[in-house]
Amino acid sequence: MIVFDLTCAAGHRFEGWFGSADDFAAQSASGLLSCPSCGAAGIERVPSATRFNSGAVENAPAAKPEQALQGKDPMAIAQILYARLVDQMLTTSEDVGKAFPEEARRIHYQEVPARAIRGEATPEQHAELVDEGIPVLRIPMPSRDQFS
Ligand SMILES: [Zn+2]
Repeated sequence: MIVFDLTCAAGHRFEGWFGSADDFAAQSASGLLSCPSCGAAGIERVPSATRFNSGAVENAPAAKPEQALQGKDPMAIAQILYARLVDQMLTTSEDVGKAFPEEARRIHYQEVPARAIRGEATPEQHAELVDEGIPVLRIPMPSRDQFS
């Protein structure tokens, strides 16, 4: 859900909650939006930051205002930041493939030097690692060209 600051033709300001920017655009285009103060249609977004923008993104650590993120809707920003996180994990970890559960155990029990690894594990293997108190993170992998 995202919040938009909206205004009617008479200048009444109010908030609208939408599933997405597209959701707002669709409701706006079909005239479903009206001002709660005067009932007027012709609702427009106030051209300022949404609450999501002024909250979560700016307060996130290491997130600075960037050209690439400006003007994008919150979901797009979240996807971009997520893709970057995944990229960073891919470039700073060693791919051990299907040996992941075994390798994660050897690191946890200090049989080998600690390092960042990534690889594959079945849901069962993942559950076993968690049961043993081994810190593993399961992330869904977006396709690499999804955010270009
Ligand atoms: Zn109004």
